[in-house]
Amino acid sequence: MHTYITTTIPYVNARPHIGHALEVVQADVLARFRRQHGDRVRFQAGTDDNSLKNVLAAKAAGVDVREFVDRNAEAFLALGPALSLTVDDFIRTSRDVRHRPGVEQFWQACATAGDLYRKRYEGLYCTGCEQFYSPAELRAGRCPEHDTEPQRVAEQNWFFRLSRYGDRLREAITGGELRIEPAGRRNEVLAFIDSGLEDFSVSRPAERAGGWGIPVPGDPSQVIYVWFDALCNYVTALGYGTGGDAYREWWASPGRRVHLLGKGVLRFHAVYWPAMLLSAGQPLPTDIFVHDYLTTGGQKISKSSGSGADPAALAAEYGTDAVRWWLLREVPRVGDADFTVGRMVARADDELANGLGNLVNRVVAMIHRYRDGRVPDPLPVPAGGEDLDAACRHAHEHAGAALEDFDFRRATAAVWAIADEANRFINQVRPWELSRSERDGGDGRPLDAVLGALFEACLALGRELAPFLPDAAARIIGQCTPRDGLLPAASPVFRRLGSTA
Ligand SMILES: [Zn+2]
Repeated sequence: MHTYITTTIPYVNARPHIGHALEVVQADVLARFRRQHGDRVRFQAGTDDNSLKNVLAAKAAGVDVREFVDRNAEAFLALGPALSLTVDDFIRTSRDVRHRPGVEQFWQACATAGDLYRKRYEGLYCTGCEQFYSPAELRAGRCPEHDTEPQRVAEQNWFFRLSRYGDRLREAITGGELRIEPAGRRNEVLAFIDSGLEDFSVSRPAERAGGWGIPVPGDPSQVIYVWFDALCNYVTALGYGTGGDAYREWWASPGRRVHLLGKGVLRFHAVYWPAMLLSAGQPLPTDIFVHDYLTTGGQKISKSSGSGADPAALAAEYGTDAVRWWLLREVPRVGDADFTVGRMVARADDELANGLGNLVNRVVAMIHRYRDGRVPDPLPVPAGGEDLDAACRHAHEHAGAALEDFDFRRATAAVWAIADEANRFINQVRPWELSRSERDGGDGRPLDAVLGALFEACLALGRELAPFLPDAAARIIGQCTPRDGLLPAASPVFRRLGSTA
């Protein structure tokens, strides 16, 4: 099975914040899990360089646009190592040689289908969103996303015949060809389609764009609307328009094509983009997962205000595991979540250092104390170990089912259950008492069975945690790998970050 997983490509009008980290970490978990399953996976991220927003931000900063865009794009690229992401391909729409020819070909395909035409247009435009709003969509006359007053713009633009695709889109969504999760977002899209789709503008005067962007083929007075341009990244990075086998392998194939995105860009991905693909005669994505937003300390994160925590800096200070764990464990599938460093630290100390780390440390230390570092041979599940055994055996299946629903909290809970059950088991069977009775001449097998079961639980944790916390999983596996028949000396797999406990 082939699985192609993409994140949206953010504007680079500022440095990344914790909200960007959420989406790339979620995508990374899906990619790692599918790979663990033996799937062929391609995980793609990138940056949207051609936005008018970038031009405006660069001007405000008094920096050359190219230099400004390059500098911020680097910071997004640097999230890869900072968050242990397994991104296979990172596309930058302004400088990637694959992008422009692909966008041009896409444009031509839509033109050939008769879906592009010129029209004079007047409307209310939010530069923050790069989109026109109807008065009904505004909140008290202001952009619902940015709370800014839109500009009145009148210009000659190219339009895309979105109105033609309502029925086909509805059919694709209700028939399961295009899955949109969670269901609330799917209903939102269907309601939007049912309200009647209007053609949308897909070009801007080159003059207003300050020469930034991709010229409309055959009409250099216009540049291609940044959303039309940006959405094409999902196929141009595969070589659509420039040749090669990747497009056939990852898009025009029976595999999965999974887009992850935030709720603010739902319409672009679940309506405009599929309609563009239908027009160009190309397959649709198979899955769209929409996450809600993060706030920081109760404040809406805004790149420009600098209120968003910098994920790379957080990872450098508190460790990649702590950042990933918070994003995966605390952010619900539906609804916004509030990030604070305090919450992240408390969660990491409680579950990673005290829960997981302490468990692995205790088990390895007991194997040293009672068995000189030699792992006992496997024995049947000891009495009282049934729940632990079940947690180990079901973790993978339960995590997989949860990830199929894009429910990262439920997925991590399935893995966490192993640690929880193992700690409960230790307290219940009290290995130190088994050791005492063994020393007093009793049978050694009960303690062997208990240590064996606990060791299996640590191995299962290392294995099942790998897609979520790859760095921690590697350390756990390291602690559980005998050298010359002996486990390495017990050493902490998580450091405490310092919440008071
Ligand atoms: Zn806006």
